[in-house]
Amino acid sequence: MFERVRSLFSSKPAGPWQPSDYRVVATEAGANVNYDCYCGCDAGIAFDRADAEQEAGSCCCGNLIQVGAGAVARLNRQLTDPAAYRIAVQSVAMPWGEQSDVALAIPEQPAP
Ligand SMILES: [Zn+2]
Repeated sequence: MFERVRSLFSSKPAGPWQPSDYRVVATEAGANVNYDCYCGCDAGIAFDRADAEQEAGSCCCGNLIQVGAGAVARLNRQLTDPAAYRIAVQSVAMPWGEQSDVALAIPEQPAP
């Protein structure tokens, strides 16, 4: 019985961490795309649809986020050391009726 209780509380997600979902809120320029970071922050990006080379949104733990067409490529271009990150990509519904890629670069070694 105790084994069973413990297994209920120690269930960890399979595989490395990534956000379980993104919160998307429409703005005049595009959308605010936010997630609950594992470091405790409410992290994200104020995505501007008109800015093709927008800076990635960053979190204090080193995560970087990009949204929209080519999000993964743009994110990779902004990483000084791409090998130090893993990239998690999800397709997210945007307020203007499109699915957009949301790409998150997560440092393999989180900032201390
Ligand atoms: Zn964080």
